[in-house]
Parts: sequence; C-alpha cells; structure tokens
Amino acid sequence: MKPPSILFATSEMAPWVKTGGLGDVAAALPPALRRAGHDIRVLLPCYPVLRQAFPKAKVIAELPALAPALPPARLLAAEADGLPPQLPLLLLDCPPLYDRPGNPYVGADGHDWPDNGIRFGLLSRVAALLGQDTSPLISQRISQHGWRPDVVHLNDWQTALAPAWLHYEGGAASVVTIHNIAFQGCFDEPLRAGLGLPEAAWSFDGVEYHGLLSFLKAGLQLATRLSTASPSYAREIQDERFGYGLAPLLRHRSEHLRGILNGIDPVVWNPATDPALTVPYAPYAANQLAAKRANKRALQQEMGLDLASDRPLFGVVSRLTEQKGLDLLLALGDALPELPAQLVLLGSGDPELQAGFLALAKKLPGQVAVRLGFDETLAHRIEAGADCFLMPSRFEPCGLNQMYSLRYGTPPLVHATGGLADTVVDVNEATLADKTANGFVMTECGTDALWHAMQRAAAAWHDKRLWQRIQQNGMRCNFSWSHAAAEYSRMYRDALAAR
Ligand code: ADP
Repeated sequence: MKPPSILFATSEMAPWVKTGGLGDVAAALPPALRRAGHDIRVLLPCYPVLRQAFPKAKVIAELPALAPALPPARLLAAEADGLPPQLPLLLLDCPPLYDRPGNPYVGADGHDWPDNGIRFGLLSRVAALLGQDTSPLISQRISQHGWRPDVVHLNDWQTALAPAWLHYEGGAASVVTIHNIAFQGCFDEPLRAGLGLPEAAWSFDGVEYHGLLSFLKAGLQLATRLSTASPSYAREIQDERFGYGLAPLLRHRSEHLRGILNGIDPVVWNPATDPALTVPYAPYAANQLAAKRANKRALQQEMGLDLASDRPLFGVVSRLTEQKGLDLLLALGDALPELPAQLVLLGSGDPELQAGFLALAKKLPGQVAVRLGFDETLAHRIEAGADCFLMPSRFEPCGLNQMYSLRYGTPPLVHATGGLADTVVDVNEATLADKTANGFVMTECGTDALWHAMQRAAAAWHDKRLWQRIQQNGMRCNFSWSHAAAEYSRMYRDALAAR
C-alpha cells in the first residue's frame, strides 16, 4: 500500500525560523518521511525571512476571510533546497499577521504578540482546510493544484486547533505531536466564534478548557492519534507532576499516545565536517579526539576564558527558563573554582537568570564566560570545545543538545527525565563493561544532586582513558531520523485505519 500523504504543519522550521527543538524537528523529519516514500508538504506562516528566502514562491490559492476574526490570506508554494529530495513548502501569506520582525511568538518587549490566538488560529484553520475534501472556501486554483493529504500532522499548540475543524466538519485523519506540553495556547472564549468554530465545540470533550479556548487541549482531545518526543515523556505527561493539567486527558487517550524519540540531523551536526569549526577550531572524528583539545583551546580563547588544560570545561547552550534547571547551576556557580572547573554558557530567556549568569561571569573572570543571545555557530563550537555538556532540566520532552553532545564526544550530564533518560546512560561498572556508558545522570533534580554529578564528571575527566571510553561510546550512538520516520509512518497508517 502506498504510504499516506502528509501535511506537516508547524510554526517554525530551521534554518529559517527556530526558537527551539521544534524548528530542528520540522527541518529534519519531513525530509526523512519523504525518503521513506511519503508525499509530504510542510505548511508554515510566511514570516519575512521566508519571503526573502523564496522570492519566487508561486501563489496557489487566494483564501477569503475564513471567519470573522481571520483576515484574507494567500497560500504560496515553494521548494526547500538542501536535503535531497526537494521538499515542497506551503507558505501561509498574511502580512498583517506574520510580517513582523524577530521572534514568531513574542514582540520586542518580550511579551506574546496580543493576537497570537488569531495568528495561529489562522494557521490551524488552513491546516484543517487543506485536509478537507470539498471545502467551498478553497479556490479553484487550489483544487487544480489537486492535492489533499491523507493525514494532517500538527505540532504543538500553534497548530493543534486544526483537529477541531476536522472533527466537527470532517476531513483527513490527524496527528498531534507534543514537543512541549508546558505551552498550551489558551485564549478567551470569544475567539471560538472569531475563528469560526461551531458552538458545539464549546464543551468538556471539545475545545473548552477551564473556561478558556485551549488549542493544545483541543488537539489532544480531538486528533485521531497523539505522539510526543520520547517514550519517557509520553509516560511522564500522564502524571500530574508533568502534565501541566492535561494528565487526566492524556491518561484517557493513552491507547492513542506514543513516544517517538527525535533523531538529529547527521549532516548539520557532524564534528568531522562542521563548517562552524574553522581555524583555530578543527573538525574531528571519534578516532581523532586529540583534535578536541584544540577546540577547547579555541573556545576558551573566543570566550575570554583562561587557557587552562588542568580542569574540565562545562558547556551549556539553552533557553534560560525554569524548565532547564539552570537556576541550580547558578546557585552552585560560586563553587566552580572548588571543583575546579570552567563554565561556558550560551543562552537567552528569563531576565533574572540572564543577569545572574552575567554577574557570575563578572565575579569569576577567566573561569566563567557567558554569551546572551541566539548564536548557531557558537552553539556548534561549544559542542565541539566543551568537555562536558550540562542539561539539569526539570523536564525535557526529548532534548536535542544531549544527542549533539554525544555525537561531538562531549559527554552530557543530565537529569533523568523525558528524552534525557532515554538517551544518556550513566557511567558505572556495568555500563562501562557493556560499552553503553555515555554520560552522567542525576536521578534527583536539585543542587546537591547536580553538584555530586559535576564532581563525578570532573573526576572521570581526570582519568583520560576512562573519559575517552565514555566519549567513544557516545559517538557510536545512532540517533538517525530514519528510525523515527518509520515509527511516524506506522502511526500515520494507524490514524488512517482508525478514521
Ligand atoms: P528546547 O526545544 O526545549 O529549547 P532542545 O534541546 O530540544 O530544547 O532544542 C534546543 C535547540 O535550540 C538546540 O538545537 C540548541 O542548540 C538550540 N539553542 C537553544 N538556545 C540556543 C542559543 N542561545 N543559541 C543557539 N542555539 C540555541
């Protein structure tokens, strides 16, 4: 049987728009699904950066105002170069909603755009529309374009409202993937009518959630199948401690929920060919770990750290939020010289954490270096130059950086949660014997546990042969997208059969 055709709807996609893991997933999973034989197209808002990247995108549909709150829009078709085979993109062009500088979700003041319900309501509406048979609203041109997906795949709250239309009006099967359940997209009730959702949708088993319209709850309630970014996270979010209020609903739907571990892009994240590793950085492979020392030196130099070779250099690349547990690291910051160890941190987010880390760097010059902002090149260089990568996350749906770290011979130190628990194997006698030991795992998430794990990592780093074994075990791990794509394929077929 022919693999089902898929519309993959997303609010971000690397390299153009990326605020976190979803951007990377949207860049890598659709091409992997295409290689697995799926006819797949990616729908995303036409942000200014995409308009610039695809000046020749063709208009394939003029969409009238689809509901009272939704402005008219156009659908453009473009092809993403890079990874063969070419990947068709559908760009939702609506300048009043998407032609804004900077971040797709927040304005320059750091607050959510006030019309996010409309911006992502339109994206969800159009994702559903593309999965509907005979919508009278679709212009002739799109029917000439003649493509309807068998399955509409939605990602996170920004597109998770689409299953509501598919449920109440009919259409393709749908899948919602949770990349982070902490973000749910909740808005005041009048938006329901504004987006053109039927009154019947306003119920406990519809889109209503504690008196609000919740995009994510709607998707989790009404999509044919659900997934999330790792098997452990799929279990955790059914528990009150991790479910952000949605645990009961997920338990109710547990038969339809699966955890599929993300892969990583082996071309973009390859220490042997990484274009970010220009002189004095140097590319390297698992059998050339000496070159990693040159990268450490280069990173120390670039970040203004002392060129110390007698202590490990811990690295962090992260959003600075409560989720990532970096407040624990900050609390321990003053004690770093006791280990002794150096720290390099690249991140942005919570103003208090930003200020705290800047103050720490000022207090410990030469030992702690902090760069605020989003910097792809430096992220690669930290993976290559640090000795050990820190991710003490309180929860982590999948996490990509620990997988990049493994690939870069930079053993990760993590809290055993979500995808971190599914990818990092703690160093102990048994795991060293069976060659799976690849990092340091804290079973608790607190300052004591983090300090203890950092001490263990520092001690292991001083044992050069042990360290190399841990590095090489990690570099052998295979986190290919083809494995994930095969699991998504099975879920699509399941969803289609259940329709
Ligand atoms: P999340 O999606 O929760 O932010 P992930 O580990 O799944 O966390 O993915 C984060 C991605 O974003 C990684 O590719 C990481 O390198 C990147 N990233 C996060 N912060 C920065 C930053 N300040 N500069 C560059 N890349 C960053």
